[in-house]
Amino acid sequence: MFSESLIRLREKNLLREIKSRNSPQGSRTVIDRREYINFSSNDYLGLANHPHVIESSRKAIELFGFGSGASRLLCGGSVLHNELEKKTAQFKGTESALIFNSGYSANTGIIPAIADEGDVLFSDELNHASIVDGCRLSRARKIIYRHKDMGHLTELIKKTRAKRKIIITDSVFSMDGDIAPLKEIYDICSSLNAQRSTPNVFLYIDDAHGTGVLGRGRGALAHFGIKPESWIIQMGTFSKALGSFGAFAAGSKDAIEWLLNTARSFIFSTALPSCAAAASIAALEVIEREPEVINKLWSNRERAVQGITELGYDIMGSETPIIPVRAETVEEALQISQHLMENSVFAPAIRPPTVKEPRIRITVTAAHTAKDIERLIKALDSITVK
Ligand SMILES: *Cc1c(COP(=O)(O)O)cnc(C)c1O
Repeated sequence: MFSESLIRLREKNLLREIKSRNSPQGSRTVIDRREYINFSSNDYLGLANHPHVIESSRKAIELFGFGSGASRLLCGGSVLHNELEKKTAQFKGTESALIFNSGYSANTGIIPAIADEGDVLFSDELNHASIVDGCRLSRARKIIYRHKDMGHLTELIKKTRAKRKIIITDSVFSMDGDIAPLKEIYDICSSLNAQRSTPNVFLYIDDAHGTGVLGRGRGALAHFGIKPESWIIQMGTFSKALGSFGAFAAGSKDAIEWLLNTARSFIFSTALPSCAAAASIAALEVIEREPEVINKLWSNRERAVQGITELGYDIMGSETPIIPVRAETVEEALQISQHLMENSVFAPAIRPPTVKEPRIRITVTAAHTAKDIERLIKALDSITVK
């Protein structure tokens, strides 16, 4: 039944496969017994292998066992779930926060919970697949605006009638590494809300790649100096820069209580293991105690960008440690990735349908050394196809 479709995928060079590792993922990764310098991970601060994160998680397993047994509403959560929520709210400067099992389940649970029939969702065309799926699950109408195009967004909002309007955007776009114009989006929302007694324009940001990276780790709102508002919900993940697993929503007390009561991916899914919550708490502690690690991430990012652009590669508007390198075709993207692997550098080709324009996606982390980045640049320099 699927074999012909699979053959077609293979013919178009779009068949994917999973590589298996025999090592932790860090600045190095071992695939088929060969070691590569790893430029594919979103563990931007190298915290997945941090001793404090590992030790906290180990202790939590001893205290709470592994599985959580059921949804928190059914079986109760552990005190570590509560502690992580308190800590997350504090970190984000919001009244409250709620943990989700993953970023994917956060977006697919929260969006239908906050947008119902009669509401309209305005979604950036490059938003993450989990946002797209969250929008599909919602009964609200969906309107896609051109990537970061504020003129287009304003025009669409003005001509649309709705009970509530909800603007949804990635803070950092996961495949392009550029940053949403949150200040402008904030201004659009706040000027419309100022004309009313109760706000009806909401902002939902997905800070998966901003958390731990932007705004001294506090995320994209902090980066832009935007204070939390009752009409802003921030979603973020513990799975990327925090080197852990799971996700959160942070916002007003009422918004979070609403999500706890209505987000189906929260209600109908077994809670995260407590050791994952412990790892996230530990990662937040590391960021507070060792903020230098974020500076290291950014200086590595600058070093890589300088080298890559000097070689004449197009980094597609990257502003963050996610650095795409444009390829003309899927075949070229695969060739570049293959060539890098031959030079012990692992950076994956990203193809449709994940993106429209094929590319290599390079992620730089704080765990890389100057020499690692030099190896990346050298390997890119020795490619003939560019
Ligand atoms: C990775 C990602 C998610 C999903 O988070 P997981 O914790 O990996 O499920 C959601 N949104 C964006 C923008 C992402 O990059």
